[in-house]
Formats: sequence, C-alpha cells, structure tokens
Amino acid sequence: MFLNTLKIPARALLQCVNRGVISPKHRVGLGRGPSRLYYETAKPVDISLSGASSARTVDLRSDTVTKPGAAMRQAMAEAEVGDDVFGEDPTVNELQKMAAEVFGMEAALYVPSGTMANLIAVMVHCRERGDEMIVGDLSHLHIYEQGGSAQLAGVHSTTVTNLPDGTFDLDQLESKIRHGYPDAHYPRSRLVCVENTHNIQGGRVLPLPFLQKVKALADRYGLAVHMDGARMMNAAIAQKVAPSTILQNTHTVSVCLSKGLGAPVGTMLAGPQGFISRAVRCRKALGGGLRQVGILAAAGKLALGDMINRLEEDHRHARTFAQALLECDPPLYEVDMAAVETNILRFRLRDASLTPTEFCALMAAVGEGEQAAMGQGVRVLMFPHIGDSVRAVWHLGISLEDTQLAIQKLQFVARQHSQKRLRAQ
Ligand SMILES: *Cc1c(COP(=O)(O)O)cnc(C)c1O
Repeated sequence: MFLNTLKIPARALLQCVNRGVISPKHRVGLGRGPSRLYYETAKPVDISLSGASSARTVDLRSDTVTKPGAAMRQAMAEAEVGDDVFGEDPTVNELQKMAAEVFGMEAALYVPSGTMANLIAVMVHCRERGDEMIVGDLSHLHIYEQGGSAQLAGVHSTTVTNLPDGTFDLDQLESKIRHGYPDAHYPRSRLVCVENTHNIQGGRVLPLPFLQKVKALADRYGLAVHMDGARMMNAAIAQKVAPSTILQNTHTVSVCLSKGLGAPVGTMLAGPQGFISRAVRCRKALGGGLRQVGILAAAGKLALGDMINRLEEDHRHARTFAQALLECDPPLYEVDMAAVETNILRFRLRDASLTPTEFCALMAAVGEGEQAAMGQGVRVLMFPHIGDSVRAVWHLGISLEDTQLAIQKLQFVARQHSQKRLRAQ
C-alpha cells in the first residue's frame, strides 16, 4: 500500500502531529514510532559484515569521505612551508590569495574546519555581549555545530523557518530583526546567516534573487550577511556562474575544501580585510593557529584549482541515480526530481513498513541471493535523514560504474522487499 501522506513535507507533518491534528497512532507514512529529526551520523561502519570481504562498497554517506589522490599527496609532500602563525608559510599565503581572487573577496584565511570558520564568522560579526544572529532553523550552524555560537561565542540565535528550497520567507526574516537599541530588553541583531547549498534540504541552491533581497534587507538594517558556503562551489557549478557572482551578495563566506573538492582538511573563510584581521585573532584563540600547515594548504590549492569543474560529474551521477529511483519496478521510492540540483539527494520510501534505517541496513548488507542476481555483492552506504528520508551524497570517490552498481542494488532491494511482502500476505 502506498501512502499519499508521504507527499506532505516533513515539517508540515510534524507540526500537524505537534498540534494534535494527527494523533500519534495515525501517523501512517512516517514509519514506526515518532518521526526523527536527529540521527547518529558518525558511527564507524563495520566492514567485517558477512559476505562483505569480496563485495564492492559504494560510500554515499557524505562527500567528506573523499581521500586525496596521488597528485594531491605529491603536492603535499613537496610543499614549501614556514610558520603560518608568523604569516610565513608561502603555500598558505598562496592559497589565501588564490581563494580571495576566486571568491572576489578582499582577503581569505585558511582554517581547520567549516565549523571553526562559521564560529569565527559569528564571533567577528557579533562582537558585543548581547549581540544576536538570525539563522535558518534547519541550518548546519544551528543543528550540527553543537550550539558553538552560544557555547563558545556567547551569541544568541533567533531562527527563521527554512523552506524546502533552503531559502526563508523575507517578511519573516524582517520580523525577526530587533528594533530600539539600546532598549535594555532586547539583544541587538547583527548578523544573518544563509547556507548555500543547503545541506539538510538536500543540496538546494539558493536562487540569486533571494540572495540579493537578503543582502538588501540586511544593508537596510545595518546587519552583516555570512554565507555558510561549505558547498558554495557546487552552487556556482549548478548555476553556471562565477563564485564571485554569488558572493557579491554576502559580506563573508566559508567554503569547505574537504568535501567534494577532495582536500583532506581545511576551509577558506573570506571577506573584507578588516574582517579577516579580526578572524586571525579568533582563530588563534580557538586553537586553530597552525604552524607548517602549508603541507595541508598544498592540497587546498589543488582543490580550489583543479577540482571545481569535476563537481558537475557528481551532480550528473546524483540525477542518474534519482531517475533510477523514480523508474524502479516494483515502485518503492519517491523523489522530487526538481529538488535534485547538486550532489546531495534526498528520497523517501513509499512503503511505511520499511523505515529509512531498515532500508539503509539492507543497502549496506550483501543480501541473500545478491551475488547470484547481480554477479557480485555491492554494499551501498547511505544515511537515514531528517523527515523520514534517506540521504545519498556523490563525490569524487564515486564513478559512473559505482553509481550503476548502486542502481542495481536499489532495484535488488526493491524486488526483495516486494517478494517479502507478497509472501507475508
Ligand atoms: C560540512 C559542513 C560544515 C562544517 O564543516 P566541517 O569541516 O565538517 O566542520 C558547515 N556547514 C555545512 C553546510 C556543511 O555541510
């Protein structure tokens, strides 16, 4: 039985449940038990599963699992280095100059992680006790960074509702801006954060007109705009525009080198010179001032130089896989093709008797009869995701052949599941 309720966005459904519109025992279509927002995502995978030794593994858990290739390792081994806390590492300096140019920003800073880059941005933009930032309620900054802005920077957040395309309503944004400073009741609005591409909403690309309007609104009220652009390069490739075309609509940005761009470590934080000077101080206070870090920055230079155009390949593979989900017979999967814009794919199961967690376990195991049916065992790793969906992410470790093997596996799992249901009837 296929359930229409699955067409309702997760948040709307959650709200109905919370308001008592749907009583918990009638939450069909959400799988068993309450719908989950949060999952453990960093559990190590048990490679020793039975039958797995000869199986091929296709790891679609995240684009963070990418490993540096031979050319990158070579560049790292040969990097010229110096003490970067003294500003004397030539490779880091080159990388920072290169990033500033690519982004069309005055200056850039190499930092260890995206999480630290976002935290530094919040610390620099919200300097006074009682400053506040406005963030999307499904943003990485708000959900996945352990509340670091509050915990470590002492900055209060207020949220706007992230829409399915990663944007938010501009009237709602304006309504969240505080007025009347220095009225002693309110924090002072200082910063608006946007996320591009939007991770939780499935790699959605923020439309340029939306960014222009957010920037205009922020300028009108004297607020800064920071873009968590962990995957901003994916957005630029999808929109076929230069990164600077996107970034002229934000004051500052953080861009991960360690995701689809394939570097082992590192994020670029960029913005005006004055912002970066203050960011250097925050980075040191957070323990992110590293010494001969040119060894890592050398990988970053290749990531920013050579790896950008290959992102298109990831986007194409994600679409190919999504199309196969849609066409699968027997039909088990539901996917909105218009939402597949970059390398992150979200989809749902049309049968409530199979939860996303159970489905991911079936995809990750070598099933009975699989070797006979497919010629080899294929383990496909994915994560259950917010809103009873499943998330799969493409990256440079996944070839077209891997994608096709993953497609065979999704068809195998659908057949096995439908046979199991027939037997149970
Ligand atoms: C991965 C990610 C980050 C954090 O990057 P880390 O390097 O893992 O700390 C921040 N924002 C978004 C949207 C991300 O996807």
